[in-house]
Amino acid sequence: MKTITRLKDMDKIENSLAGDTGVCIVGCGTCATMCRTGGQEQVASMKRSLQALGKVLTGTLVVPTACDELSPQAVRDHKHAFDDADAVLAMTCAFGVQTLASTLMRPVIPALDTLFLGKEQAVGSYSEICMQCGECVLEDTAGICPVTACHKGLLNGPCGGTNKGKCEIGNDTDCAWAMIYNRLQAMGRLDRMRKYQPPKNYQAVSKPGKVQIPLQGSEAQ
Ligand code: SF4
Ligand code: SF4
Repeated sequence: MKTITRLKDMDKIENSLAGDTGVCIVGCGTCATMCRTGGQEQVASMKRSLQALGKVLTGTLVVPTACDELSPQAVRDHKHAFDDADAVLAMTCAFGVQTLASTLMRPVIPALDTLFLGKEQAVGSYSEICMQCGECVLEDTAGICPVTACHKGLLNGPCGGTNKGKCEIGNDTDCAWAMIYNRLQAMGRLDRMRKYQPPKNYQAVSKPGKVQIPLQGSEAQ
């Protein structure tokens, strides 16, 4: 499981950096490296692209995990690279961008689009696993997420477009609800297919996302 990211168009990045000459590039050694969007290789390639545009690179680094306290540490460790930069180009997920932005009084420009939490199916091919909807229903859906796996995100499926286990969108896409049915059947829990799932309470996804989770067990004492 990782945060899936995709490189923005170079035109867009160039546009975001318009007026900024000195640039420090920050990559991430975790998700963005695994996605091949913000690892050592991609940071080096971005450096060459920016130099070709006439930018002055004040520094390039790949933080082990850009979304946590290692970013502020990297900012302290590479103070000159950040101090000399007009802008920081973050080849990290949006969490890394915001972590850097909260640490630095510098524009932090995202070079990547953050897509979803997912897993790699094959090299460069990713599937969304969870969109963190705040009301998980996996207990009734055989561990298959209908919100992300069904084309329509149906909580009560399948729809009329299902055909021999495939989704109406074609492209040989499996119907999520056929997969749920088959798995429930194999587990002897088909009665779950009859359970009505009420419409999602989108208030469960609070914006801004803050939640206080009561401590359990020994941690609570
Ligand atoms: S129902 Fe799907 S999107 Fe919602 S929390 Fe569960 S896995 Fe994530
Ligand atoms: S065919 Fe299946 S996966 Fe496709 S939209 Fe309908 S229920 Fe969802």
